[in-house]
Amino acid sequence: TITDYTARPDLLKDKIILVTGAGDGIGRVAAKTFAAHGATLILLGRTTPKLEVVYDEIEAAGGAKPAILPVDLSGVRWEELEYLAQGVEQEFGRLDGLLHNASLLGQRTPMANYHYSVWQQVMQVNVNAAFGLTKAMLPLLEESAAGSIIFTGSGVGLKGRAYWGAYSVSKFATEGMMQVLADEVDGVSNIRVNSINPGATRTNMRAAAYPAEDPKTVATPEDIMPTYLYLMGDDSIGINGKQFNAQG
Ligand code: NDP
Repeated sequence: TITDYTARPDLLKDKIILVTGAGDGIGRVAAKTFAAHGATLILLGRTTPKLEVVYDEIEAAGGAKPAILPVDLSGVRWEELEYLAQGVEQEFGRLDGLLHNASLLGQRTPMANYHYSVWQQVMQVNVNAAFGLTKAMLPLLEESAAGSIIFTGSGVGLKGRAYWGAYSVSKFATEGMMQVLADEVDGVSNIRVNSINPGATRTNMRAAAYPAEDPKTVATPEDIMPTYLYLMGDDSIGINGKQFNAQG
């Protein structure tokens, strides 16, 4: 199965891959893992010092020199996204992979109590910004021989759950965005579009959602990388519009 997938060391050689939320959690490990398999990383996130740490870790491990894009997706305007895409175009001329990983958890409270402003912010980061970044990067992904877009879903984006509010709804929307775009590119583009549900994974977000849980009892970001590598690399060419569970 794909959760047991073993990637060749040079799976992502010469690929240009953008990861959002690359400064922490799953995004940080995904960026480092892609770099370790030969990719050149574009690290997008809102906290520059964290991105600089990942940059240093990739360089220290002998990876290709990454690029850093400091962007707060909660306030990003279309013009800025266009400008970012122009920068990627000038520096690299194309994009081979786009991992939409950054997300906000928001509140966990009944919808009756959910703050309107928090709802809007969660939808902005998790859905609207992911749409905008996708739209901005699509022309560059078309320049790739085999562009891969990965969206990040969640169990609560497949079945709604009480008190998960905008996060749950945003993850349903994420699956919808994946399906709509996958259907659009199907058979007419070299781009493929899929989603990954990481499953319970040891990060700050998981600890915030489950404060009473012993973090040692859940998988590490490293444990779930086989699915990320499979979908980012050429072994998944032809796979489009599918939802994957990184823990089976
Ligand atoms: P973390 O909160 O640990 O990391 C999220 C990353 O996204 C951080 O680097 C964060 O930046 C960044 N980010 C958040 N908001 C913004 C923003 N406005 N602009 C730019 N970057 C932003 O989360 P995880 O690693 O746990 O989650 C990664 C993905 O996996 C998410 O999509 C999440 O929904 C999903 N997921 C996670 C599960 C889990 O158990 N961990 C389970 C199911 C799904 P900063 O470091 O500056 O805060």
